[in-house]
Amino acid sequence: MNEKFSRREVLKLSGVALGSMAVVGNTAIGGENQIHHDDPSQEDSLFRSLKPFKIGTPLGSNEMRISFMGTSVVQRRTQMCSSVFVELGSGDSFVFDCGAGVTVNYSTMQIPMSKMRNIFLTHLHGDHTSDLTHIYCFGPQQDGKSPLYVWGPSPSGIADPITSQTYDDGTVNFCQHFREMNRWHTESQSFVGTQWVGAEGDGYDIVATELNWQTGATSRYWSTNSSIPKPSSGNWIAYQNANGVKISFFPAVHDRNGSISYKLEWNGLSMIFTGDTKPNNFLINNATNGSTGVDVLISEMVVPPEVWAIKNGGAPNPTGAGLLVARTVQENSHTPEKALGYILNQTAKLGKAPRLAVATHFQAEDDTIYPALQNIRSWYSGDVTVATDLMVITVSKNSILKQKAIVSDYSWFPPIADPRAKNGTMPPKYTDTSSSNPYAPYAPLAQFDQSLLNQVIDPCLYDPTDFGCTHPYPSK
Ligand SMILES: [Zn+2]
Repeated sequence: MNEKFSRREVLKLSGVALGSMAVVGNTAIGGENQIHHDDPSQEDSLFRSLKPFKIGTPLGSNEMRISFMGTSVVQRRTQMCSSVFVELGSGDSFVFDCGAGVTVNYSTMQIPMSKMRNIFLTHLHGDHTSDLTHIYCFGPQQDGKSPLYVWGPSPSGIADPITSQTYDDGTVNFCQHFREMNRWHTESQSFVGTQWVGAEGDGYDIVATELNWQTGATSRYWSTNSSIPKPSSGNWIAYQNANGVKISFFPAVHDRNGSISYKLEWNGLSMIFTGDTKPNNFLINNATNGSTGVDVLISEMVVPPEVWAIKNGGAPNPTGAGLLVARTVQENSHTPEKALGYILNQTAKLGKAPRLAVATHFQAEDDTIYPALQNIRSWYSGDVTVATDLMVITVSKNSILKQKAIVSDYSWFPPIADPRAKNGTMPPKYTDTSSSNPYAPYAPLAQFDQSLLNQVIDPCLYDPTDFGCTHPYPSK
């Protein structure tokens, strides 16, 4: 047979035929959307149908806002890798995972670095961690001049089948090496201030807390600075604070021992973020162990392996190796569409369905969304949506608002928002306070060998009004 599958065949494999799509779509999201585009692989009409969210809209003191900053494992123009940003009316904010590309969306959404200092990692795959580098490196160059707190899994305990070695593949070791990996960056950029006056710790400090996927222990901890207070953690509790925020964790089943899921509770509101996982009972238990269900349950979801193989291969043989690999990955790691429906149905049977379920880590386009919703609907009739980047969900006791952020493709860094900025910064590490230094206390030339400086072109040669010409370093 022909090696190339038609779109109709792809859709059949994923559970819906093209002819029924508009009907399915209307049913799935209450008739508020329409298929506008001729090619359903190039359109997310579910997202497009949402009401606009204006960035910078204040959050009510009793509200929780969840912004999707990365929603896919396939990084693409419309969807970066994994990240969920949660803001609370208390003023607290939390980053859950920060995979490749997501800082583009944080910056585009004008989220200041000072709001991105608490990072909760579900596991240590690059599609959930890659942009930690960018947050860490560039936070202190903006208003992220306070320590970076990282929570994540403990070591897997798996022995290498070839060497019999057991690796320290947990979050503490990850952070220790991460700190050194970025040494050239952090030193080089420490000619300007990276710590607020009167604040504890520097923007390049890291505080890592390891969450034991097996026992719930939170005792394995590491910090670059012993004077920084240890976060308030406890058994199966990653974080809690005086504002009543509690972030607990529970095991996930994804790829290798160690993956975890998180549950955030505050002010009578709650959300779960599964990270990546096979369908599991830990999730059902944690989604139903409160007096009510959670408000927002964010679960990963994967397209059927046939769709994965065809979408990624161009012209694969769906009975061949590509399909087997796709099936293997799903078996090892992920939640099929019907499994998510089944899980939600289990919560509903206990009278504790979430007010809203959100599928993410999913390539969201019309010809994947509507078959997926149909598969979920085969089990569950509650409110479900499929996330894409810049979807914003505002949760209060009375309402859950789903919106799409309206953003600029040409945004710059967000304005400084940390109130400690009014105190100014401590002198930089590479400091030069001499009165003859026109840049004092900054020392922009402190890290250069004289042989390099000897070859720098004198600014007076190209612009006599240049600051470097009118205010030369004394050595010149
Ligand atoms: Zn992933």
